[in-house]
Amino acid sequence: MKRRPLGKCLLGLAVLLAVAHGCAFQPRHTGPVDAHFDGTRFYNRVPAEKSLVDILGFLSTYRARREAWPERVQNASYPAPPAAGTGITATFINHSTVLLDIGGVRVLTDPIYAERASPFTFAGPARVREPGVPFDELPPIDVVLVSHDHYDHLDTDTLAALARRDAPLVLAGLGNGALLAEHGVTRFHELDWRQRHEAQGLAFHFVEVRHRSGRGLLDQMKTLWGGFVVVAPGATVYFAGDTGWGPHFAAARERFGAFDLCLLPIGAYRPREFMAPVHLDPDAAVRAHAVLGCGQSIAIHHGTFQLTYEAIDEPYTELAAALAAHEIPAATFRVLGFGESLRLPPAPQRSAEAAQQSAVAPAQVVQFVE
Ligand SMILES: [Zn+2]
Ligand SMILES: [Zn+2]
Repeated sequence: MKRRPLGKCLLGLAVLLAVAHGCAFQPRHTGPVDAHFDGTRFYNRVPAEKSLVDILGFLSTYRARREAWPERVQNASYPAPPAAGTGITATFINHSTVLLDIGGVRVLTDPIYAERASPFTFAGPARVREPGVPFDELPPIDVVLVSHDHYDHLDTDTLAALARRDAPLVLAGLGNGALLAEHGVTRFHELDWRQRHEAQGLAFHFVEVRHRSGRGLLDQMKTLWGGFVVVAPGATVYFAGDTGWGPHFAAARERFGAFDLCLLPIGAYRPREFMAPVHLDPDAAVRAHAVLGCGQSIAIHHGTFQLTYEAIDEPYTELAAALAAHEIPAATFRVLGFGESLRLPPAPQRSAEAAQQSAVAPAQVVQFVE
């Protein structure tokens, strides 16, 4: 009898355990039926359906078809995240974790410090880089934004550690509260799309994106995914979480106007036919940047965990190519180093700078076909 490689057995075991996990614990929402909730599951306006067969098909070919990533990549070193004072400071930590200091209010997006983006300590995507800011060197956090419950975005150990240390307010989509509470997060607020929560002088809007949710194979779409718009005095920030392309970018632009700062995912997009409904590739991220009218974008969802087929550096070369192809200045869509900070000056200064820039290169009107 032919022996199966250990890796394949572990993957099979991981899938079986994931099924069991989904059965054992199903965070879910109970509430009235509406356009994107049927009483049990949530839906996208533009479908991003994946059957169990699709998901298992991807998992079964993943090991054979993925590009090899290095086991470990050393981070460059950067100064500790500076206080923003007035204006906004954004520090890229890893994956979709960004520390925002918005006029002195510290906001952390999708914090993950786990070794693996997985329900297991022995299997699943392992990190290849350390977080750019060690957990113990994080300043006190006021608000945590959780875009959805996938393991690379909702890390229960990190959320529990933050709850113990700073007791921040945690904002997440409908149905995620039970899982948060189970891990000691008591200060949380669940939001539906188009709902907002005000805290510390900022308004946090939960907004539609095109994605999915689920921590096991049998609890798919039972909690709500989304992005966040943070409206601060004189500045708006767009955090996309995970998303595929869709009309929600134009809708956000119409509702909130152009954004000062956008956090947009550029990684985890191959195989394209399977990933396109749920993840942007760099070209789509650049189109989103244009449609949202982002004064400054920062790339997220890259270089930390290998989730899909593409090589570790491909999103960076593809992003540079897409910015050139769309004639968008590369400086407006940055890939920060792990731990690197970027400061946006307060609004009046920013508009003076923008006016200066537009005197040199007139802002383009960009239109993309949906
Ligand atoms: Zn996701
Ligand atoms: Zn993700």
